[in-house]
Amino acid sequence: MGKKILITDDTAFMRLTLKNILEKNGFEIVGEAENGQVAVDLYNSLRPDLVIMDITMPVMDGITAITKIKEIDAKANIIVCSAMGQRALVIQALNAGARDFVVKPFQAERIVSAVSKALA
Ligand SMILES: [Mg+2]
Repeated sequence: MGKKILITDDTAFMRLTLKNILEKNGFEIVGEAENGQVAVDLYNSLRPDLVIMDITMPVMDGITAITKIKEIDAKANIIVCSAMGQRALVIQALNAGARDFVVKPFQAERIVSAVSKALA
């Protein structure tokens, strides 16, 4: 069975794009969150194998959500997928516990390889 992934992004089109790419590569999308708070709640109930996390979102940003998910489960697997690739932000995300940082716009292979590596 495919590994369970929770997709977090405030843009419906980006969630759909990620879902299509990952499903095509054998992963199972168990949930979609439109902000960090929903991601934390869904992580709690779904316990996915991996979370894809946007940074800039309303209600709760991705860095805060990573911190909260890590409080729930220190072993949580989280990859950031964000348009903002500034060094400081990447470091902040990695310090919060993200495994990798994929900068938008991305090639399908880049996200698939980041997800596969994080789940290996
Ligand atoms: Mg966003």
